[in-house]
Amino acid sequence: MKVMSDAEYGVPLPLREVGVSQLVQSAPVGSVLRIERTSIHDGQGLRTVLFLKGCPLRCRWCSTPESQRSTPQKGYARDRCVGCGRCVHSCPAGALSLSEDGLKVVTDFLKCRNCFVCVGKCLQNAHKKYGSLLSVGEVVREIVKDEIFFFHSGGGLTISGGEPLSQPDFVAEVLRECRELGINTALETSFYASYESIEKVLPWLNLLYVDLKHLDQERHKQWVGADNGLILENIRKVDQTNESLEIIVRIPLIPGVNDSDDNLSATAEFCKSLKKLREIELLPYHRLGLETYRNLDRDYLLPELVPPSPEWLTERAGFLARQNPGVPIRT
Ligand code: SF4
Ligand code: SF4
Repeated sequence: MKVMSDAEYGVPLPLREVGVSQLVQSAPVGSVLRIERTSIHDGQGLRTVLFLKGCPLRCRWCSTPESQRSTPQKGYARDRCVGCGRCVHSCPAGALSLSEDGLKVVTDFLKCRNCFVCVGKCLQNAHKKYGSLLSVGEVVREIVKDEIFFFHSGGGLTISGGEPLSQPDFVAEVLRECRELGINTALETSFYASYESIEKVLPWLNLLYVDLKHLDQERHKQWVGADNGLILENIRKVDQTNESLEIIVRIPLIPGVNDSDDNLSATAEFCKSLKKLREIELLPYHRLGLETYRNLDRDYLLPELVPPSPEWLTERAGFLARQNPGVPIRT
């Protein structure tokens, strides 16, 4: 059954519906996907990366489908299941049954209440829990454990998603506490958010990663689910503030979607106007999220697309560098 399909989660949500529940928005609690330690790809030095849940966009190449929904949710890794049946009778919603051959479990996601009882019952780790509701204090305590790595590497905290700006109050509070503890901070965002939300987090940021997925309005809408007007406007506005943060523009480079000379030239042209721009980073298409799509019983929307070669990436980076000679290009 494809209940967790695009029909339910595959369309962009109006901004007012993006955030987590009212409970989460009004309290210092966030919908957290996971916390990853010692990343070297998300800012200077070793980073602790706080991944949040909830995203208003639906990029067709999204590699973290478990981050799209704003609340914790259940997944099922079919390959891990040995069909022991332990979980079936534990489900208070009657959402689980054994398949006809008795070898696997079938989840009726329409009945599932995301109580996660089955996650604890399964000895094979076949049932998955994607996300938790955590307080600011709980999150900051986890981040502070890595202070010694920040100190020796010049690293810090990076908040990513999902779209972190769908939880602006929680994000602002985590950033503020970390900055007051002397921890360097960065945010990875699509910038598809209200400027009011952006203003809440800006004072607490050292570095801003913002995605530019396509400069053409219609193509952006076709591949991402919303046009890019709000995103471009937000980047321009932040660039004109007096905040001392730096901006890194990230391009998830998807073959046949946004890798053309025209689009890269238009992106370079837009970037030329940015005073706070430190560099442009190219993130080549990959298919690392495929297993999670299966665990969520969702279809992957680009099944035929082949990841590009390193030579292709080098060539595209060279082209971009020639359009915007003063700006470093990272791959
Ligand atoms: S999360 Fe809860 S309701 Fe959903 S299948 Fe597991 S036990 Fe049943
Ligand atoms: S408890 Fe785990 S291994 Fe056993 S049937 Fe349920 S999901 Fe499969």
